[in-house]
Parts: sequence; C-alpha cells; structure tokens
Amino acid sequence: MSRTQGIKTRLASVGKTPAYDGGTAVNPPVVRASTVVFRNAAHQRQAREQRGQDRLFTYGARGTPTTFALEDAVCELEGAYRARLFPTGLTAIAMTLVSYLRPGDHVLISDSAYQPVRQLARQFLEPYGIEYSFFAADGSDAEDGMRPNTRMLYAECPGSLVYEMCDLPALAAMAHARGAWVAADNTWGSGCQYRPLALGADISVMAATKYLSGHSDVMMGTVATTEAAWKPLAQRCDAFGITVSPDDAWLVLRGVRSLIPRLAMHERHALQVAQWLASQPGVATVFCPALPSHPGHDLWQRDCQGTNGLVSIELARTTSQANVDRFIDSLQLFGIGASWGGHESLVTQAHMSETRSVTDWSKRGPVVRLHIGLEDPQDLIDDLAQALQAAAP
Ligand SMILES: *Cc1c(COP(=O)(O)O)cnc(C)c1O
Repeated sequence: MSRTQGIKTRLASVGKTPAYDGGTAVNPPVVRASTVVFRNAAHQRQAREQRGQDRLFTYGARGTPTTFALEDAVCELEGAYRARLFPTGLTAIAMTLVSYLRPGDHVLISDSAYQPVRQLARQFLEPYGIEYSFFAADGSDAEDGMRPNTRMLYAECPGSLVYEMCDLPALAAMAHARGAWVAADNTWGSGCQYRPLALGADISVMAATKYLSGHSDVMMGTVATTEAAWKPLAQRCDAFGITVSPDDAWLVLRGVRSLIPRLAMHERHALQVAQWLASQPGVATVFCPALPSHPGHDLWQRDCQGTNGLVSIELARTTSQANVDRFIDSLQLFGIGASWGGHESLVTQAHMSETRSVTDWSKRGPVVRLHIGLEDPQDLIDDLAQALQAAAP
C-alpha cells in the first residue's frame, strides 16, 4: 500500500470534489478564482485558442461562472448579444469611450450626460487627442454637431437630473448613416423602463450600482452590445484585464431577481409624489417624463415602458440657497445623498448650470432631485409638505 499523502498535500485538495449528494441551490454559487485548471494539455491549448471568440472559464480576469451568470441577466434585460462587467458605472462609460474611439476621432455627447463624463472628457479624451462636443439633450442640434471624424454619438435618455428625452431611433439612423457608433447610458431605464439596443443603439451602458443592485451596498457597471459592436469592447477589456469580484456580481444578480417588482413600486410611489408636488405653490416645475407636462412626455410614451423613482423639482426662482438648504435639512425621511436606485428615499441638490453647457439654466430656480423609495408614499408626501413649509420665504 502506498504511503498516505502528507497533511500539507491533503489540505491542498480536500473538499474540491464534493462528497455529498442531494439537490442544488436555487442560486449560482460564488466562484472565486484566479487560476483555472484544465483536464489535460490539449484542453488548455484549445481553451486558449477559443477564448477570444467564445466565453470560456480560463482565468479569473476573464470572468468566472458567477460573473457570467450576471452577464447573462444583463443580456436578457438589454436584449444584447453579450455584456461585460466593470467595477463602477463610470468605468463602464470610460471603457466604452476607450474601446471605440482613437486619437483623431470625435465623439458627440449629450448635454444631459451623467456629470462625471465631462471630467472624463477633460481628463482622458482631450490629452489623448480625441475631440468631443455636446449636443442638446433633446437631440435637436445633433445632426449639426456631427463632424467628418465623428465616430460615436453618446446619448443619455432620459437625461440625468431633469430627464430630457431624445428621439433615439432618429438619432441612431442619422449617426449610422455617417458611420458612427451609437452608445447610450441606460442607468435610468435599467433595461426595464428603456431599452436602447431595441431603439437602434449599438452599445448600452448601465450603472448596476443603482436599480440592478437595488440596495445601495455594491458598485458595478455593465456594457451590453449588439453582435456587430461586440469585438472592440471585448478585445479592449481583455487587453486591460478588467474584471469584477464574483461576490459583487452575486450581490447584483440577487438584486436583479427582484428588479421588475421593485421598479414597479418605485414608479407607483414616484407618480403619487410627483402628482402631489405638481399641485404645490412652492414648486415651479416637476421633472418626471411620465407627467404630461414634461417636454419629453410624448417620446417617453412612445419609447419607455414606465418610469422609476426619480423626480426632480425646480423651486421658485427667487428661492435663496439658505431656503434650499432648509428644505433639504427639514426632510426627515429622505437621506441626503447623490446616488439612487436603492430601497430608500434620497434628496440632493442638482446644480444644473454646472452640468449643462448647451442649455442655459442660469435664469431658472434651484433644482432638487428626489429619489422616491419603497416607503409609504403618504408619509413621504407629509414629510415633503412640512419641508416645503419650513423653506417657504
Ligand atoms: C450613477 C450613475 C453612473 C455612474 O455609476 P457609478 O457606479 O456610481 O460609477 C453613470 N450614469 C448614470 C446616469 C448614473 O446615474
């Protein structure tokens, strides 16, 4: 009989082949991996040859069964060919720009884009010789903004902070006719309320940090593409070694299981609050594309499946900063915070003049963004009522 292996050797393999029988867990397990081992040398060689093309489990940096499961869920939401995951939504945007643009190219960006995209443009595009400019959030001047070297139109619809709508199918047809890719930030729609790829975009980006995760406790970004747009993204991500933690992917996948009913509840609560806000004398404008008063309402009706928990308000033009602060500080049920998409209500001031360069906001009142959470909407309305009262001049 051969000698029993030493304890150090046995510890390296114990538990790797499950020694139990029974059913399977409902959810895919968290597979943590850097190294992946193969059956034999030919298996390894074959996997290496194929992995540029097919999604294979070959190394932790190329993804794990846990991250693949979330990629599949993102593809279902977005109607995409394939998807990649990123440590944050902002990284997903950055990698979208890096993957499709080269020095000498031009990208035309929506004026309503998530504000840090402007810093990304200044900090990365400019020094790397990629031109950029902005088009009006409703798309009205986009065609005039196209240049001979425009390689991408980057939309965000509905836009950040006040939810401007653009006619994405029309913009996509225009951009495609000029040989440009069309990318869209779909964090607002989260693959449920809006689906850019079905409306003509090639690339759809989401901050899964928001509704997909849904609980304000994990950061992640996603990029989903059509088959024609897949290769540049996949190759650039592999070259850069971009991956996410399987624990984080597992958390987001857990959030996705309840995404649709959560969004339906956010929508119902937000509409109730928005309609009440619209009747308040201290509120000059309520921004929510589901309200008939919103300038993009017709496009919202045509292109969106619903709205979410985001509602912004413009206070009277003469409202002082002290009274804006008093309104925000008086709210008891709204956390003061900038992110959104979790179960809880939030409030933050939106500094419109700093986030728009095409549209002039200098003559408008202060804008405050609310995220309406899953709390009882009547309690939120009561809270908003007392805060508006407290901030009244
Ligand atoms: C939050 C957000 C992002 C960035 O997501 P992070 O995960 O916070 O980096 C991108 N786009 C929009 C519209 C967002 O609201």
